[in-house]
Amino acid sequence: MTRNPFPNLYATLVGNLRKPAEVLAEQRARQLGILLRHAYENVPLYRSLWDAAGVRPDDIRSPADLPRLPMIDKECIVAAGNDAVDRNVDPASLDEMSTSGTSGRAITMRREIREMRLVRRSYLRSLFYNGARPWHRNVTMASTWLSKKKGLFIGLVAKTRHIYPKDTLDQQINTLREFKARNLMGQTGGLYLLAREILRRGETFPLKLLAPTGATLMPQMRQAMRDAFQTEPRDLYGAVELGAIAWQCKRGSYHIDADRTLVEIVDSDGNPVPSGETGQVVCTTLHGYALPLIRYRLRDVASFSNQTCECGIRFPLMNAPQGRINDFLPTPTGELVSPHYLYHIFDHVGGSPVKEWRIIQHAPDRLTYEYVPEDDFNSSALEGGMNVIRERFGAGVNVRAVKVESVPMTPNGKRTCIVSELDPNAIGGMRPWDIEAQAGMSHDLADKYGMIAK
Ligand SMILES: [Zn+2]
Repeated sequence: MTRNPFPNLYATLVGNLRKPAEVLAEQRARQLGILLRHAYENVPLYRSLWDAAGVRPDDIRSPADLPRLPMIDKECIVAAGNDAVDRNVDPASLDEMSTSGTSGRAITMRREIREMRLVRRSYLRSLFYNGARPWHRNVTMASTWLSKKKGLFIGLVAKTRHIYPKDTLDQQINTLREFKARNLMGQTGGLYLLAREILRRGETFPLKLLAPTGATLMPQMRQAMRDAFQTEPRDLYGAVELGAIAWQCKRGSYHIDADRTLVEIVDSDGNPVPSGETGQVVCTTLHGYALPLIRYRLRDVASFSNQTCECGIRFPLMNAPQGRINDFLPTPTGELVSPHYLYHIFDHVGGSPVKEWRIIQHAPDRLTYEYVPEDDFNSSALEGGMNVIRERFGAGVNVRAVKVESVPMTPNGKRTCIVSELDPNAIGGMRPWDIEAQAGMSHDLADKYGMIAK
């Protein structure tokens, strides 16, 4: 078995970020070729998928040819079991990391140690470029990112503490104060709850760096974090099975983690959408050999950016992710409404009359908007917002506003503004994202690898 190439520490932390676009593109194309040949030779899942599609690794000369390959997703990897793993490695020798499984089926990602190290380094470099240093007082809200298996250097040098979402907010705030935390990183939902509690007490806790990850950073979350921690959050957009996909630099741009991850933004057929237009995010990890993820479809919605950034990092840019497709609400006619739309329903009625809210979709034409009123609540502003929702979902849609004492959170601190109670049978047997999941794959293979909604 030949050893596959890996970037060294210098390239990961410094060199790759400064490479001109054409040098990086050439490097990515070469790396992709190596990965595709490896997957075709050694990973049964990809061989059967690509044989069925009539495509060979050599047909893919650059990332632009990727749409010729079928997409896969989490369900597909779970169903393939050991067929998704390099048949030359002993699965027992691989490091395992499970996703929480709160959104759909859980996946156990398996990596060799050096793959693991690369994922960790790419995360660390995002913190480094935002000013964090190991000898600072760093607090991590335990997440699957860094809580286990620290590198030797980090283990020896780093000043770190952990706080845990299951701790009370009191305990979490005490840890920050006692440790005199300077940088704080961790789960988006957990950090948001902490920010709200600090604000509720009428206090602030100034930090140098706040780095949330693990969920879409919605505008109200960003605002609360900025107010409580007196610094602009630097969001890291990633997934447990992929590592970092894009991260915000000091100027606030989302740089794609381009030396490690190929990002495509595609329509429902898997074809690329023009830059600036929104579509679903599909990723290929260039250095994942043990369990390759090639054209791995996340259900996230985002767009590429045509902007440039002057921060010195030359990785290309995308716009802020807009959420998961599962958070989008279907209208009775099958259109999808973005969660962002719902964050802006009061823009034209003179300020939000609600402190907190969540929307529950019982059926495509039946929604409940639960809200906690602002101190200077104004019922006509609320009604104006409800009309904005009605307009978007179409005539005859029933939107009911219900006042509540507080909006419930999930136990792990996840914020659920969007709750779907849709019965797939009520909407033609499948939800839009189930139908899209099958795009680009034959029915038999989709069935074999669990892509048919049961
Ligand atoms: Zn930048």
